[in-house]
Amino acid sequence: MDRAVLIREVYDRLLAHLGPQGWWPGDGPFETIAGAILTQNAAWANAEKALANLRAAEAMSWPAIRALPEEELALLVRPSGYFNAKARKLKAFADYMAGRGDTLDGTSGAKELRAELLAVHGIGPETADDIVLYAAGLASFVIDTYTQRIVDRLGIAPERRSYDAYQALFEDALPADAPGYNEYHALLDAHAKAVCTKREPRCGACVLLDLCPTGAARSPGPGTRSP
Ligand code: SF4
Repeated sequence: MDRAVLIREVYDRLLAHLGPQGWWPGDGPFETIAGAILTQNAAWANAEKALANLRAAEAMSWPAIRALPEEELALLVRPSGYFNAKARKLKAFADYMAGRGDTLDGTSGAKELRAELLAVHGIGPETADDIVLYAAGLASFVIDTYTQRIVDRLGIAPERRSYDAYQALFEDALPADAPGYNEYHALLDAHAKAVCTKREPRCGACVLLDLCPTGAARSPGPGTRSP
């Protein structure tokens, strides 16, 4: 099956099986962006503890982050790990937002915003796409380790296994649609957590089994044995 057709088929099957995920992280752009930075190399539960500290300190805005001494900010975000580096990243992002009047409104497009974000200290491709999609509401497909795992197991990994090549797989196959990208990303994460797990994927219970060479190799068939 053609890669683009397969990508659309996977979406249709996961949506039919799991239903709409209704996933929109963060309560407003500030929390979404700060959360995307704080969850780098950290479990979301720990990023949430750092956000709770910021909330308790009444520091849930870019002007408030600019006003806080960096050492104080580092102590507040300590639960998310790498707290000195993350305080520096939040400060850098707050400075960037000052130049935009503390809003992402007025952006000319997803690609333009993404390029701007990648130039800010501490913002890599996944964080940039989180911000473009979830904070600005523009179409930029988010790639994470769950998505990469499923793509690899489906046997459609791009030749050059870069973040941008994985993203192009999806963006070339799908219309540029922010709610659709959000839904697909959430479905992939749900599938990776529940079925296509890192160890011992539950291929026998997978709605993608007949599309998946990894699943075929793991499942017993006529005259075959499971590995
Ligand atoms: S068949 Fe197995 S390896 Fe393939 S997507 Fe499903 S759970 Fe993952």
